[in-house]
Amino acid sequence: MRHSDLIVIGAGPAGMAAAATAAETGLSVALLDEQPRPGGQIYRDVDRVAPLREDILGKDYSHGATLTAGIRRPGIEHVDGAVVWAIEQGFRISYIRNGRGGQLSGDRVILATGALERPMPVPGWTLPGVMTAGAAQILLKQSGVLPRRAVLVGSGPLLYLIAAQMVRAGTPPLALVETQTRGDLFRAARHFGGALRGWRYLAKGLAMLSEIIRARVPRYTGATEIAVEGDDRAEAIFFVCSGKRHRIDCETVLLHHGVVPNTQAARSLGVTHRWDEAQTCFAPVLDAWGATDVEGIFVAGDGAGIGGAKAAEFAGRIAALKVAGDMGKLSSSERDRLAAPLHRQHQNETAVRPFLDTAYPPFREALLPADATIVCRCEEITAGDIRRYAKLGCLGPNQAKAFGRSGMGPCQGRYCGLTVTALLAASNGLSPDETGYYRIRPPLKPVTLGELAAMEDGARGAAE
Ligand SMILES: Cc1cc2nc3c(=O)[nH]c(=O)nc-3n(C[C@H](O)[C@H](O)[C@H](O)COP(=O)(O)OP(=O)(O)OC[C@H]3O[C@@H](n4cnc5c(N)ncnc54)[C@H](O)[C@@H]3O)c2cc1C
Repeated sequence: MRHSDLIVIGAGPAGMAAAATAAETGLSVALLDEQPRPGGQIYRDVDRVAPLREDILGKDYSHGATLTAGIRRPGIEHVDGAVVWAIEQGFRISYIRNGRGGQLSGDRVILATGALERPMPVPGWTLPGVMTAGAAQILLKQSGVLPRRAVLVGSGPLLYLIAAQMVRAGTPPLALVETQTRGDLFRAARHFGGALRGWRYLAKGLAMLSEIIRARVPRYTGATEIAVEGDDRAEAIFFVCSGKRHRIDCETVLLHHGVVPNTQAARSLGVTHRWDEAQTCFAPVLDAWGATDVEGIFVAGDGAGIGGAKAAEFAGRIAALKVAGDMGKLSSSERDRLAAPLHRQHQNETAVRPFLDTAYPPFREALLPADATIVCRCEEITAGDIRRYAKLGCLGPNQAKAFGRSGMGPCQGRYCGLTVTALLAASNGLSPDETGYYRIRPPLKPVTLGELAAMEDGARGAAE
C-alpha cells in the first residue's frame, strides 16, 4: 500500500492549499478527490472552464487556477476521481476509482470535504423539475447548460451569485423568491463592524443585486408558505408575500437556503461535533490549527464551519503548517512565524460571517417542515413520521433509523440528518446537542461489491 506523510481528502481551496503548503515543507502528500479535476465546489473544473466562461462565472472563479497550479509539483500525488468511502485509524484510506477499490496509508489526515447545500424540504420539493440552485450552477460550470423558465427560491449570497450568473448567461430566472425578512437585516445591523471588515463581500453582493435588478428579474422577499405545485413534475411555485398569495408558472424550481459543513468523514472517525447556533448546523470542535480531538486528524475549510473559499484556503495552509511542525519539517518558531499572517487573514475573511448568517437565516418552515413533507428522500420518510417516532419515545436520529430507516439510504443521512435532528429536538424539547446526529459508519458513499472485489494492484494484499 502506498504511504504518504499526509493524506488530504478534498481538492477544493482548503485541500489544494493544504497540499501545496505541506509539500513546500518537504512532506509527501496524497490528495484525493472524487471529482475528475481539482477545484472543489467554487473552482469546479476551473482549468478547463475559466477560459471558456469567465465572463459568466466571474474573476473570483478564475482565481482557482492559481491553486490548481500549486498542486502540480513534486511531493504531491493527486488521486483524482477517488471516492473515499472509509477512513480507518492508523490511517488507512479506502476509495473507489474507475470502478476499482484502492487504499492508501498516511501519518496525518486533513479532511477538506467542504460544504453541502442545506436541504430545503418544502411541499413538492421531491417533484421532477426541482433541484438545488447549486446543482444548476454545477450544470453551468461543467456543461454550460442552464434550465429555462426557472424560479430561484430561498436565501443567501449564493442565491444572488447564481441569479447573476444566469443573467450573464442570457437565461435569467423568472423570479427570485427570497425568504429573509427586513427584520433579519435589522438584526444583522449589530454585526455591522464585522461587515465593514468584509466590505469587499458586501460590495460584491450589492453589485450582483444591481445586475439582477437591471435585468428586471422580479424579487419577492419575506416569502412564506412556499410550495412547489404540479402533478407529475414542477409546474409552478406558490408562496405568500406581504399577505398576498402568489403563483408563478415555471418549469424548474431551484431551491437554496445556505450551505452547511459536510461532517460525514469527521463523524465516521468519532470527532466531537457541537451545534453552532449562529450557523444553525453542527461543526467539528477544533483548535486554532484545525486539529480535532482525534489525534492526527484535522479539518480545514467549509467542513469546519462555513467561512467561504478564501477562508478555506487560509485554513488549509494553517493546518498543513501544524502537520509540518508536528512531523519535524518545521521548528515551532518557524511554524508560528509562517502561520501568523494566515491566522490574521483568516480572521479578516470570516469577519463578515455573523452579518451574513443573521441577514440570511435558513427558511424556518424548511427547518421544521409540515407533517406531509418528505424529509428523508432515500427512504421516503415524512416530517410527520419523525414526529410520530418522537411520541413513541425516539430521542435521537440514530434511534430513528430503527423506527423507520431514515438516514439508511444511499446518501447515508447527508441530506436529512439536520432536519431529523431539528424535528426530534423540537418534539422532545431538547437541544440539538442533546438530540445528536446519526452515527456515521463506512461506507461514507455507496460502494458495490464488484468495486471492492476489483482492488487496484498493490492494494489487494493490504485489504485481505
Ligand atoms: C453546490 C455548491 C456550490 C458553491 N458555489 C460557490 C460559488 O460559486 N462561489 C462561492 O464563493 N462559494 C460557493 N460555494 C461555497 C464554497 O463551496 C465554499 O466556500 C468553498 O468551496 C469551500 O472550500 P472547501 O475547500 O472547504 O470545500 P469544497 O470546495 O467544497 O471542496 C471539497 C471537496 O471535497 C470533495 N469530497 C467530499 N467528500 C469526499 C469524499 N468522500 N471522497 C472524495 N472527495 C470528497 C468534493 O468532491 C470537493 O471537491 C458553493 C457551495 C456548494 C455546496
